Amino acid sequence: MLRELPTASLSLDLDNQWSYMRTHGDAGWDDYPSYLDHVLPCALDAVEAQGLKMTVFLVGQDAKDPRHHALLRSIPQRGHEVGNHSQNHLQWLHKLPYAELEREIAEAEEAIEVATGQRPRGFRGPGFACSTTLLSILAKRGYDYDCSTFPTFVGPLARAYYFVSARKLTAKEEEERKDLFGGVRDGLRPLRGYLWDLSQHGTRDLLEIPVTTMPGTRAPIHMSYVLYLAQHSVLVARQYLRAALMLCKLRRVEPSFLLHPLDFVSGDTCPALRFFPAMSMPAAKKIELVGQALAELRTHFDTVPMGEHARRLLASPGLPRRAPDMAQ
Ligand SMILES: [Zn+2]
Repeated sequence: MLRELPTASLSLDLDNQWSYMRTHGDAGWDDYPSYLDHVLPCALDAVEAQGLKMTVFLVGQDAKDPRHHALLRSIPQRGHEVGNHSQNHLQWLHKLPYAELEREIAEAEEAIEVATGQRPRGFRGPGFACSTTLLSILAKRGYDYDCSTFPTFVGPLARAYYFVSARKLTAKEEEERKDLFGGVRDGLRPLRGYLWDLSQHGTRDLLEIPVTTMPGTRAPIHMSYVLYLAQHSVLVARQYLRAALMLCKLRRVEPSFLLHPLDFVSGDTCPALRFFPAMSMPAAKKIELVGQALAELRTHFDTVPMGEHARRLLASPGLPRRAPDMAQ
């Protein structure tokens, strides 16, 4: 008898070169250097080569640039979903005052719809930024799901890695970036989908689909981390991902697997971003490893875009509810 595979979802956060340069504090970011022409087709090809579709989270600043419109429109034309990744990719989004935060969501929503013809139904915060205010704005605006939580303990380490190579930041820049990538509390959140109970904030519940981490240790399992391991040993990286997916299956966690643009480029194409891990690995090697990871994922899970994952979760009985645990 054929057994139905459990669900997994696949997404790409389409961070552009300028947004990484900005967070890192590099000059020249405000000319908005872009690698989207190169990265997006590579990523769509790699995903489609495995017979899969995904959700691409777009930044409003890129969507509003008419030079990117034809390219971004290819996302829905090729059968993928678009999501909202905020207007300016400010990784300190959750600290903004209400009106500014709402503008970051609404402007991106508008620009993405104009560029692609599709209104985003899901949101992921830049740098996994999340707050109760943010969730309540999404619920009010009719979003189907949020997917900004990243239940891991390595957030503070990721931040240290990011800034070890940065120039001296000003006091204001340091304050903005202080809790980038989250704190220890984040590692204690659930790995399975659940509803944020926003009744205290006068809005309906909102579905949360966490970015999956290793059940138990909560170490990251997104593609960039797998590539980071692969720099040292491809075999170890592949076994690590396989173990993570098997643990997800055992614990009935439906994995939400995350891709980033740098999973498809090397430091040769993008010298400004050489400070990131795995940038010395040739792009062809990275793309081959992405293909192997996606093949592993789709062998064990029915892998769908996030909107479809959200529909299935919302239709499932007994979805747990959880009160928000953030400061604001
Ligand atoms: Zn991002």
